[in-house]
Amino acid sequence: MTDPAAGAPEAPTGAEWAAAVAAVRRLPADARVLLICHVNPDGDALGSMLGFGLGLRRLGVRQLQATFPGPPEVPEPFRWLPGLDLLVPQDAAYPDPDLVICFDAASESRLGDLVGRLGSAGASLVLDHHASNTRFGDINLVDPHAAATSVVAEGLLDRLGVPLDADIAACLYVALSTDTGSFRFEATTPAVHEMAARLLATGIRPGDISRRIFDTRPFGAVRLFGEAIGRARLEPGAAGGRGLVWTYATLDDLARHDQPPYVLEALIDSVRCTAEADVSCVVKQTPAGDWAVSLRSKGAVDVSRVAVALGGGGHRFAAGFTGRGSVDEVVDSIRAELDGALLAV
Ligand code: 5GP
Ligand code: MN
Repeated sequence: MTDPAAGAPEAPTGAEWAAAVAAVRRLPADARVLLICHVNPDGDALGSMLGFGLGLRRLGVRQLQATFPGPPEVPEPFRWLPGLDLLVPQDAAYPDPDLVICFDAASESRLGDLVGRLGSAGASLVLDHHASNTRFGDINLVDPHAAATSVVAEGLLDRLGVPLDADIAACLYVALSTDTGSFRFEATTPAVHEMAARLLATGIRPGDISRRIFDTRPFGAVRLFGEAIGRARLEPGAAGGRGLVWTYATLDDLARHDQPPYVLEALIDSVRCTAEADVSCVVKQTPAGDWAVSLRSKGAVDVSRVAVALGGGGHRFAAGFTGRGSVDEVVDSIRAELDGALLAV
């Protein structure tokens, strides 16, 4: 196991689970609880946060908010999720909650302007599944073997005695199916399918959910993908001959097709299918003017090592970082790290 964070945690210990359960159970009736997920939230970030939030509501937590850093817009594919009424813009979030719970964030840097809430809160609890997690909470439930943060969230809900209902299940299912690539990635263990079975048993409709979150995009995004894929570059010699394929999209591309930034998140899936490359990369200009970089590997390269070296993080075969400079400079920086991140396969 090539893990960028030496001494990375294994599954949470019994003591860690007990501490997390106690942190929720000892909340007074008037406690304010703030849930935070990572910037540019994806299905696992939003789904695990809102699903857990609905569970806390069932436990009787009345003063409950959910938020994420940056503009308060939820990507269109997730605008039907149960529990969206918990969301508040970051500036409206409790300044000093009694408990803050973070979802799917590997490090404090993923919390943007909300990072100060960790210090001002009475206590902090981190739920995550990134091996690179820096354990920045008072209590950390970090399971690098979990396919999604929602696996950890379901584990805590179960220990709190909260039964699954269809609303909680829909959120957790979105999270689980997002991070397993619709149950296609290596992380799709028997335990993942067992969890999916528990969620489906509540009556949620997987066909509807998958179509909404994976198979629907505006025509402008279809055209934009066509352009971005049309300028993809294949470098067969990169990554020790395993090959690199990459492309990019700018704010100007988004504006020309009248599309919001989140549509670019799915672009990597249309690039990584390239047979001739182990490593794929999409460089996406952000409203802040820098670049959100997505990296994927089919198994020959530990892309989390590349991402960590460039200031980001993630998983072995799916990682990312924030790039600066020109697109060429960003891709140069990646190329330079690839050989050092080759896995013995
Ligand atoms: P994606 O390419 O889908 O945005 O992200 C892939 C994985 O890399 C996710 O697990 C995500 O959390 C992680 N990741 C993406 N960008 C960053 C980043 O800038 N910093 C860190 N620490 N992780 C990132
Ligand atoms: Mn995740």
